[in-house]
Amino acid sequence: MIFPAEPTMQGLMRAAVLYGAEDVRMEQIPIPVPGPGEIVAQVDVASVDFTDRKVFLRGQHPMIKIPGLFGHEWVGTIAAVGAGLAGRWRPGQRVVAANSAPCPPEDGPVCRQCRRGRQNMCENIQYNNGAFAPYILVPSRLVRMNLYEIPSDILPERMVFTEPLACVAHAVRRVAIHSTDTVVILGAGPMGLLWVNTLRRRYGSDQVIVALDHQDDRLAAAKVMGASHGLNSKDGNSQELLRVAIGRPDADVVVEVIGTAETHCEAFTLVGRGGTLVSFGGVAPGPRLPVDFGRLHYEEISIHPIYHHTPADVAEAVRQLVAGEVPVEHLITARLPLSELRTALQMIADRTTLRPILIPDR
Ligand SMILES: [Zn+2]
Repeated sequence: MIFPAEPTMQGLMRAAVLYGAEDVRMEQIPIPVPGPGEIVAQVDVASVDFTDRKVFLRGQHPMIKIPGLFGHEWVGTIAAVGAGLAGRWRPGQRVVAANSAPCPPEDGPVCRQCRRGRQNMCENIQYNNGAFAPYILVPSRLVRMNLYEIPSDILPERMVFTEPLACVAHAVRRVAIHSTDTVVILGAGPMGLLWVNTLRRRYGSDQVIVALDHQDDRLAAAKVMGASHGLNSKDGNSQELLRVAIGRPDADVVVEVIGTAETHCEAFTLVGRGGTLVSFGGVAPGPRLPVDFGRLHYEEISIHPIYHHTPADVAEAVRQLVAGEVPVEHLITARLPLSELRTALQMIADRTTLRPILIPDR
């Protein structure tokens, strides 16, 4: 494999820049040059997810500054290494990184959230974007806290699921779930499918895991990923469908993986006595969740939101993917050149694909 010599590294590349709501442009920008402690990686594959779609529609998100480079899931090959990293990182290494880094302990006292183990809530969290480009700069803090070398015999498109899987690893680490609990996953998109598979591997073959969705193809994928039931709630009442399928109209744990106010309300109605609503799909600030205090208190209903991940979750996701524990091949339903980013975003909006993989045009 040949790596770009200095002149190429100082050249230009076509990268996706997000300017605002539904305004993404492929622009000629300089290929980044790594400063001290930084690396620049050639992007081998990137992945477009529903968060990217939301960011594209809203033109804003906690994870990204506008205007700014776009895309946060990638696997690449180190092209250039900044000062101070010799011995650990070198050109040619295949790597995957998370899209953020919390306070690095070696820089002195960490923030209050990092101190209490809530690094996903870090007050100084640094997000990184720029996956939709031929090259991406990895900042020093991310290099130190959330960058992993991956074995050369692992397909890069498998490892591109590191960030989404880390979010699910974070969730199952924090939410109290028992192997005898009945779980409903509301939304069988890629994240819902990672949830189904993670629960099946973690809690064994006896757990009742019900996937609810409006698309039969996604419910079929849910069965492949380990769901015991796949129920199409497009034309039916979810409680009635559950009653027929599993003998009860509710579940002990209901995971909302769609990210709308309506589906959060639906999820809340499906939580049984002593149960938990996991708010996993992010809703933009504004809408309210109407909650019956009688149910909340006397039925001890918990509402457990889960956002993002910590470095420990990223490490766990990398471990699972390298070990081949997660059948992510079922989630990859399209491969497109990077120049087709808008097409990929539209496919996600239309729900005609699970997870499109982007390959930079070379
Ligand atoms: Zn912090």
